[in-house]
Amino acid sequence: MALKAKVLSQYCKSCGYCVNFCPKKALSFGKERNAIGAFFPVVDLEKCIGCGICATMCPDAALELREEVNNG
Ligand code: SF4
Ligand code: SF4
Repeated sequence: MALKAKVLSQYCKSCGYCVNFCPKKALSFGKERNAIGAFFPVVDLEKCIGCGICATMCPDAALELREEVNNG
């Protein structure tokens, strides 16, 4: 099993840091909004290498690394 980024969408404020800093371009904003109206990113699991940069960059703790199971 590999570590993959998991978006905790309820915490996202749509700043875009994670999208911009992911070295694999594995994150992109989706079409859904969370409860505060922010678009949040979705993870392309094929591209994500589990480096954790996105989780480090996120100012709102909206990203973490998890073992890949159901990364919805
Ligand atoms: S863990 Fe690394 S490769 Fe995966 S989405 Fe985050 S920054 Fe991109
Ligand atoms: S860095 Fe965090 S708050 Fe900013 S867009 Fe990514 S998940 Fe959302």
